[in-house]
Amino acid sequence: MNHLYASLNMVEIKSNVFIHQGQHFDVDKGYQGDICNIGFIIGNKSIAVIDTGGSLKVGSELLKEIRKRSSLPISHVINTHVHLDHIYGNAVFKSEQSEFVGHKNLAKAMLIRKAFYERLNLELLKVPFKDSVQVPPSIEINEGEILKIDLGDRLLSIEAYPEAHTDSDVTVFDEKTKTLWTGDLLFVERAPVIDGNIHGFIEVVKNLSHRSLDLAVPGHGTPPEDHQKAFKKMQHYLVSLRDAIRQAIDDGIDLDEATQTLLKDQANEWELFNIQNPRNINRVYPSMEWE
Ligand SMILES: [Zn+2]
Repeated sequence: MNHLYASLNMVEIKSNVFIHQGQHFDVDKGYQGDICNIGFIIGNKSIAVIDTGGSLKVGSELLKEIRKRSSLPISHVINTHVHLDHIYGNAVFKSEQSEFVGHKNLAKAMLIRKAFYERLNLELLKVPFKDSVQVPPSIEINEGEILKIDLGDRLLSIEAYPEAHTDSDVTVFDEKTKTLWTGDLLFVERAPVIDGNIHGFIEVVKNLSHRSLDLAVPGHGTPPEDHQKAFKKMQHYLVSLRDAIRQAIDDGIDLDEATQTLLKDQANEWELFNIQNPRNINRVYPSMEWE
């Protein structure tokens, strides 16, 4: 069933920081293009959007929500990474003359997935190919670098990471409220997805858990009351996955058996675990086989 609420439910989670929480559906039957967290931050001079949702429909609902609250220019549209649920609302903001901001690898990562995403959008959302529009960044951030943008008495620091959840991850830090938008470097409730490098992912999550923040906005799920606990839970999953795969390889357990058996005891800790955990094993196991 493809449904989208008449308007997006936005919450002002900090002063002039607005978030809409997507629902926990898999990108499969039931996917409606609105499964991740998207939102915007309003400064004195302009507005930054952080992720645009999985379709033009979600993107235009987001734009409507912005315009209910402010008529300031939308100076920046930031994509936290390449995944389809985060980027396919971008094209809506072209008419706003916004700069698009993303990781140095983002444009290439979009192209690599283009045909696959167009098929998924057609099959699951009934979006014709011509409406699956990718907008690559006009401002790229190199790995390990931080870009600062000023929305008017409101500085955002956008940081690009080495390969972790994907090879195009950035975070957005609002200095005024000490809010960190993590993109999919943090999952809450829903099982984490690994589409990059497990070792890099563990490193980045450890690094983020030591930052001094007031609030973390995850890529999926409710912004946690205790973000350190949320990062710890994330780290626990990733580290135990890495260790279990390493052990399985040492013990001669093949990929097939590994996907069916590893970390079953964590199934109750995450939503969609029984779908996502085997996918993660499938992704990570072959990469660790030759380490
Ligand atoms: Zn993602």
